[in-house]
Amino acid sequence: MGPVLTRTLAAVGAVLLGCAVGTTIGGALGAATTGATFGGALGAAALVAWDSARGRVLMDWLRGPQVGAAPREAGWWGEMAYRIERGLRLRDAGIEQEKQRLRDFLDAIEASPNGVLLLDGSDQIEWCNSTAADHFGLDRERDRRQPVTNLVRAPAFVTYMQRGQYDDHVVFTAPSGRGTLMVLVRRYGDGMKLVLSQDITERERAEAMRRDFVANVSHEIRTPLTVLAGFVETMTQLPLTEVERRRVLTVMAQQTDRMQALVGDLLTLAQLEGSPRPPSDRWLAVSDLMQRTQVDGLALSGGRHTLAVSGGADAEVAGSDTELISAVGNLVNNAVRYTPAGGRIDVIWRWRDDGGAELAVTDTGLGMAREHLPRLTERFYRVDGSRSRETGGTGLGLSIVKHVAQRHGGEIDITSELGKGSTFKLVLPAFRVRHRAEATLAPVLPA
Ligand code: ADP
Repeated sequence: MGPVLTRTLAAVGAVLLGCAVGTTIGGALGAATTGATFGGALGAAALVAWDSARGRVLMDWLRGPQVGAAPREAGWWGEMAYRIERGLRLRDAGIEQEKQRLRDFLDAIEASPNGVLLLDGSDQIEWCNSTAADHFGLDRERDRRQPVTNLVRAPAFVTYMQRGQYDDHVVFTAPSGRGTLMVLVRRYGDGMKLVLSQDITERERAEAMRRDFVANVSHEIRTPLTVLAGFVETMTQLPLTEVERRRVLTVMAQQTDRMQALVGDLLTLAQLEGSPRPPSDRWLAVSDLMQRTQVDGLALSGGRHTLAVSGGADAEVAGSDTELISAVGNLVNNAVRYTPAGGRIDVIWRWRDDGGAELAVTDTGLGMAREHLPRLTERFYRVDGSRSRETGGTGLGLSIVKHVAQRHGGEIDITSELGKGSTFKLVLPAFRVRHRAEATLAPVLPA
């Protein structure tokens, strides 16, 4: 039976019951018709009052915050309460889902390495992620609804925003003064703008370094080439005596040696940069490295210095032998070149408390002032350019050493005192060094 029919029958029943009771009471009092009328009306009123009271319970629930279940009345009101409650729950679930999607979306933008800033039609800030706040020096709460050009006043940015042509990006110094920003604007929706910012400080630095490097290499090659070209011209145009010819050829040989050394070091650097890290399970005897260092060092010194190597007899190092020989060779080469005749050079292997080890090359040579130390491993950085070149230096030796150290998980540690001498340490981490005994010790198996 449908609810309308049920309710109609209930109304008819209430009126009839009222009439019957009214007729009985009215008949006893001699006014049956009045009693029936009054009883019928009373029956209808009672039904309406009862029905309204049930409806009221639902209305009270709806007027409130709608927590908990809706009143579960039987029949019409109960079903209405159930359907309203279900509708509300579905709506709430939908809203919660949308909120979650928005949270996920904002979290994703938050995780972006780029700054993201949303502007409304009047270029006022709607929202920004923390990277953009950091880039532009904004306060995410306080600066909402503020015109962006009132807050980011870099002239290049203001002009870019005012021009309104966003085909290209704009580059300017970050408002915080820290580094350089690249900013790009994209339009979306109804006049809204998406502002993307990127910190390109590192990229610019790398680009500047690359430019410097190319300029330095060109300069280093051009100088010996100019000398060579001059001598070639001299030899072709002027009749030279045998003595002059030999002198010219000696200088030419020196210049070609210089270019060869430079190209050799450049290739070593390129190889170090382009190849995977040396293996950490290929163990080499440190004693071989020390012996090789001593032989090469003595040959280079030609008896002008005292050269002593010590330690490392029981040690092994994991990595690339060519790289390590090249690194230690460069340190000894420098020690020889920057130590006047009669000086002393020590190559010492030491274990460190942290389980690692260091290979220290100490000399009693020229040394250098403290301010040079931080820049010493930069490519082509020289304390004394003419001395470096005269002794066959390329200015790349220490950058090669630094690369090798880093590729083995280590570092280079430099101490020096002007006029007294220097110590260059190749520091290696624990996982790259071990005592030889450990390697040869057979595992003790239970009998
Ligand atoms: P170079 O080929 O010029 O020696 P390096 O990169 O090997 O290039 O060294 C950079 C600079 O560090 C050198 O030009 C020199 O001024 C300084 N230097 C390196 N080793 C020593 C040392 N043992 N004593 C004094 N100065 C040194």
